[in-house]
Amino acid sequence: MGIQHRLAAAYLPRLLEARAYRRATHPRVTVLMYHEVLPDELDIPSWLVVREARFRRQMRYLKRHFRVLSLDAAQDYMANAASQVKARRPPAVITFDDGYAGNFSCALPILRELRLPFTVYVSTAMLAEGGRFWHDRIIAALITAGRGRLSIETSAGTLEYSGSARLDARRWAGIERILTRLKDLAPAEREAIADRLDPDLKIPALRMMTPAELHELSASPLVTIGNHTHAHELLDQLDSDSASATILKAQTLLEEWTGRRPAHFAYPNGNYVGETAALVERLGMSTAVTGRSRPWLETDALFEIPRIGIGRFDNLNLFRARMCGLLQ
Ligand SMILES: [Zn+2]
Repeated sequence: MGIQHRLAAAYLPRLLEARAYRRATHPRVTVLMYHEVLPDELDIPSWLVVREARFRRQMRYLKRHFRVLSLDAAQDYMANAASQVKARRPPAVITFDDGYAGNFSCALPILRELRLPFTVYVSTAMLAEGGRFWHDRIIAALITAGRGRLSIETSAGTLEYSGSARLDARRWAGIERILTRLKDLAPAEREAIADRLDPDLKIPALRMMTPAELHELSASPLVTIGNHTHAHELLDQLDSDSASATILKAQTLLEEWTGRRPAHFAYPNGNYVGETAALVERLGMSTAVTGRSRPWLETDALFEIPRIGIGRFDNLNLFRARMCGLLQ
């Protein structure tokens, strides 16, 4: 965490924020990337899990200062960017990745109350099988290890984890370091490591929605369902036939569960190569989002839309700093 980050977290002057908005003269849409929202009392120190109360404050802030659009409306806005006069309230889009249960139980009621549209990109395998992602199982294992140490043997050497940090944000940085290294391994080895570490889960593990919950979520007129592959494969590690197969499998299941064929796509973990973008377009999508952290500008390709990730450790000041572009 840099000094700028710590300063913004403690205090963000309104004047600085207002000036940042005034400086942004080109049409832009800020696309937010969330993963999960859960009740505050659930102590899951994972960046992915935003506390419900914080999420509510962030959404109220968005409602007041931004024009929150569906992805389709944002795409229209960008298509006519040249003729857009600078709006008093800049446009924003809310998105969630993966298909976690709290999207339905926690986020939907808040967004419905505030009447804010949002998109959920779903990886279908975990919903179909009721399973959990390898990374969520590793996170749960490391959290369970508490303040202790853990050695993880991999084909690329031993990874040492130490949970000694006092602050949750620091502990998360340690967990993230391990996840980043594991992402380089073959998928089968990642699963095997998760099996080996699988904790007895005294910590409430992250759960995905059931197909029935997804069906109910998708019935809301506020909700757009997007494709996030079947098994959350990192697409830069697949050949084009396998990439196409996992995307089409998710299309089929999502259409079966929601009655609609998705037109929007999110690259798992933000990983893709140039051909992936072309493939996603050929498969009938109209946009694809990445994890590149900055606002969406009219010069960006529709299959490489950047997003700003919001996580557990972003208080309202950090959220405001990210929204106005002072922190990215
Ligand atoms: Zn994902």
